[in-house]
Amino acid sequence: MSCLFCRIAAGEIPASKVYEDADVLAFNDINPQAPLHVLIIPKRHIATTNDLAESDQALVGQLLRRAAAIAGEKGYADRGYRTVFNCNAEAGQTVFHIHLHLLAGRNLGWPPG
Ligand code: AMP
Ligand code: ZN
Repeated sequence: MSCLFCRIAAGEIPASKVYEDADVLAFNDINPQAPLHVLIIPKRHIATTNDLAESDQALVGQLLRRAAAIAGEKGYADRGYRTVFNCNAEAGQTVFHIHLHLLAGRNLGWPPG
């Protein structure tokens, strides 16, 4: 298994876990870009958001609702937070296993770089 996030999901590589259930894992980003920077991933490998199937609709909802729940638990629901899926080169995707970035705790510029 060569995918980094599959290996984290399988417990082969350690991560600072924030949440885990049968389908979803959330862990702190190793190179945080904000005071809160969590990655929410499906345990099942999906390379990019281009590869999402109709049958993945509920899974995508789980990822976003989990991000909102974590933001709330950490006290950022009212202050605000950002959720981002990067897809392919021009968006800066570097790990080809979909992951929802959850960023909070500072003023996040818009438009993003
Ligand atoms: P992206 O550029 O959207 O593909 O995001 C990949 C993210 O994964 C980056 O924010 C990295 O800092 C993060 N990352 C890479 N390796 C690890 C790791 N071993 N544990 C946690 N986060 C990681
Ligand atoms: Zn993977």
